[in-house]
Amino acid sequence: MHLIEKQNLKNYNTFGMEVVTKSFLQVDSAEEVPYIIENYLQRHPYYLLGGGSNTLFTKDFDGIIVHPAFSGIGLVGQRGGEAVVRVAAGEQWDNLVQYCIRREYYGLENLTGIPGLVGSAPVQNIGAYGVELKDTLLKVEGYRISTGEAFELTRDECQFGYRNSIFKQKLKNDCFITYVWFRLSCIRHFTMTYQGLSKVLEERELPLTLRNVSECVRTIRDTKLPNPAVVGNGGSFFKNPVVTAERYEALVSAFPDLVAYDAPDGKKKLSAGQLIEKAGWKGRRVGNAGTWENQALVLVNYGGATPDEVLHVADSIVDDVNRLFNIVLEMEINRI
Ligand SMILES: Cc1cc2nc3c(=O)[nH]c(=O)nc-3n(C[C@H](O)[C@H](O)[C@H](O)COP(=O)(O)OP(=O)(O)OC[C@H]3O[C@@H](n4cnc5c(N)ncnc54)[C@H](O)[C@@H]3O)c2cc1C
Repeated sequence: MHLIEKQNLKNYNTFGMEVVTKSFLQVDSAEEVPYIIENYLQRHPYYLLGGGSNTLFTKDFDGIIVHPAFSGIGLVGQRGGEAVVRVAAGEQWDNLVQYCIRREYYGLENLTGIPGLVGSAPVQNIGAYGVELKDTLLKVEGYRISTGEAFELTRDECQFGYRNSIFKQKLKNDCFITYVWFRLSCIRHFTMTYQGLSKVLEERELPLTLRNVSECVRTIRDTKLPNPAVVGNGGSFFKNPVVTAERYEALVSAFPDLVAYDAPDGKKKLSAGQLIEKAGWKGRRVGNAGTWENQALVLVNYGGATPDEVLHVADSIVDDVNRLFNIVLEMEINRI
């Protein structure tokens, strides 16, 4: 492990917020975790930080930022048309996707290009283009921080939902995830429910293969989302709101072109991006912060934005969307 005092976090969060942490602890192996929990995390305020692509730092951090830096993908076994892999928390998510594509394991290709580390992926059950992490996750290994005890949670025990899991609810900030296990299919199988994806494949006259799906997903993402290395951002800033069928009917009579997707229990999931756009916020900038020109759901740091500038834009969007639709948007990003 490496412990650094007074670390600037600008390069550790994709929003590019310039804040300073009192201490920064890099964890170099999973074996160190019990010692680190007992000697640091149980004694000081802490925040587990992966790639910082779903974190908005709003001020300096008066505690320890803990960063898992141990990586590796282990093939546990392959039989009966399935492969099981165990992946260390510090592995880059996209490395895992590319590993699966090389080995012809099906299931993660639609999740190509999502920034961040594998250890963070179960926290909000990452998802894109009709696929969620929970579709292939087998179990999660780690340690409870309050007790130091090792745990293993199966997929059901993780209580996954839309951008949600037990790690955001009952066990919030109390788990150090060390390894994530996946069960992948070795049998040809694609999820092509997102129309834009099949359209890009057709337009390019590409056969349906793992590599082509992955590359098309990357192309779509590149046209819609700003590259954090160029323009600071944290991806989708708000969750898509889920409303009852009655509420949806009332909304759609006032706004006939409202986009909605079926959600569990007969509910409807609205597009937060569309609501924000209708509230007049697409591509709008206030000071150095604003929303992205191609996707209003993405708040951006146009360069040198302070946390207050980003929060001002976020609060204004919540107010304006609420005034227009009577819907209170909920943040997807972790505000620290
Ligand atoms: C351009 C862009 C595009 C994006 N696209 C998508 C998308 O398509 N779909 C999607 O779902 N998300 C998307 N995101 C959001 C983000 O990439 C994911 O949420 C990702 O899983 C965050 O990983 P991270 O390592 O950067 O997390 P961080 O921001 O570092 O951490 C996120 C959360 O996980 C916790 N955490 C981190 N490591 C551990 C650990 N080892 N144990 C326990 N808790 C831990 C943190 O405390 C925090 O609560 C996007 C973000 C950006 C910037």
